[in-house]
Amino acid sequence: MATIDRDYSDAQKLKIAVVGAGIVGASIAYHLSRRKDIAVTVLERDEPGAGASGHSFAWLNSFGKDPVSYHHFNRRSMDIWGRFAHKLGTDLNLHWGGELRWENTPERAGALHQRIKQLQAWGYPICIISSDELCELEPGLSPGPVTTASFSEIDGRVDTLKVIEACLQRARESGTVVHTHTPVTELCINGRGKIEAVNTPRGEISCDVVVLANGVAVTVLAATAGVYIPQQNSPGVVVRTDPQPRILQNVSVLHLPPIDKDRHEIHLRQSADGTLAIGQGSQESVDQDDSQEHADDLLSRAVHYLPTLAGAQAIPTPVGYRPMPIDELPVIGFCAAAPNLYIALMHSGVTLAPLVGELATLEIVDGARVEMLAPYRPERFRTE
Ligand SMILES: Cc1cc2nc3c(=O)[nH]c(=O)nc-3n(C[C@H](O)[C@H](O)[C@H](O)COP(=O)(O)OP(=O)(O)OC[C@H]3O[C@@H](n4cnc5c(N)ncnc54)[C@H](O)[C@@H]3O)c2cc1C
Repeated sequence: MATIDRDYSDAQKLKIAVVGAGIVGASIAYHLSRRKDIAVTVLERDEPGAGASGHSFAWLNSFGKDPVSYHHFNRRSMDIWGRFAHKLGTDLNLHWGGELRWENTPERAGALHQRIKQLQAWGYPICIISSDELCELEPGLSPGPVTTASFSEIDGRVDTLKVIEACLQRARESGTVVHTHTPVTELCINGRGKIEAVNTPRGEISCDVVVLANGVAVTVLAATAGVYIPQQNSPGVVVRTDPQPRILQNVSVLHLPPIDKDRHEIHLRQSADGTLAIGQGSQESVDQDDSQEHADDLLSRAVHYLPTLAGAQAIPTPVGYRPMPIDELPVIGFCAAAPNLYIALMHSGVTLAPLVGELATLEIVDGARVEMLAPYRPERFRTE
């Protein structure tokens, strides 16, 4: 992996341009800004959080993460989320209530059993619970027949826009400059293959390091520096409701099983303001229906299991596009083809933001090569 040679005796500041103010770019900017002699500029083409982060379900978890190294990677970030939130020092609507799910057919229950076994072998605190325990955890549930239920006690949820705002605010207090409505249109490369500046409608902004944290748009911008980062298209929809009285008494996230062959499973959470967020399938399910009918349908599936939700209004939300590398694993690190270009592209970026901010800073500022990041290097996509 390429690293940046930094002359620590040089009084000049290391100039770092962070492209993209989603949760990943904001966390990296925040962590960088805590170091001395670093001049950070964040460039966001829209408003902070306009990309995947603003559309996210924002479940902090390591449930469906394979292989084991990726599971532990997510777990480690979950474990430092509390410290990250504490340092940001503001209310992020962070709630650690765990995740509750159940299945109502033998096939699906079998798959859940297998997953639980695997997760337990990896040390994840998830266990099978009885239907009585399920109803004790969430008395508002009307679960119907329960074949198997599980509770994953360390899962949480957060408000991504609040996290981004807090990161950028803290970064600004340490001198970071944040330009919104400023798309980076080009990476300006000198004869030795080094990026000297990024081009924007404000003009060129010179830099020593560029961090690409611009989500689905990483692929196009990286290509201008000869770096190949393939992604798959992964649209998703998380509909909202109007504010409701407190429906979930304990848990952060609920996964509700299919009602019949046409009404598939959904996941659901309630925010501190009472609004609910509902998505179909799992955290990775593809969905591009942003119609009112679809929003009503998702809500009606929730009402089936949570009858007190009857009367809630479903609010359709635009489709969000997950940053999704072709092999579904994060892409993190400097690039051989453009040695001062650092990529930070990933799904599950809400879960991973604290850890990625911390580790990227070690690599960019201290020249470390973090071993834990070895499976995620951009070079794995090199074609030659
Ligand atoms: C429907 C859905 C559900 C999800 N659920 C979960 C979940 O439950 N848990 C979880 O951990 N993760 C979840 N994710 C994934 C998670 O939201 C993303 O991994 C994370 O938000 C990625 O953050 P990011 O900062 O990398 O990208 P983004 O949030 O997409 O931010 C990229 C930013 O770059 C800006 N930009 C793009 N091009 C340029 C340019 N040329 N110049 C300047 N700025 C540019 C964009 O405007 C955008 O603001 C979900 C995602 C979706 C869409």
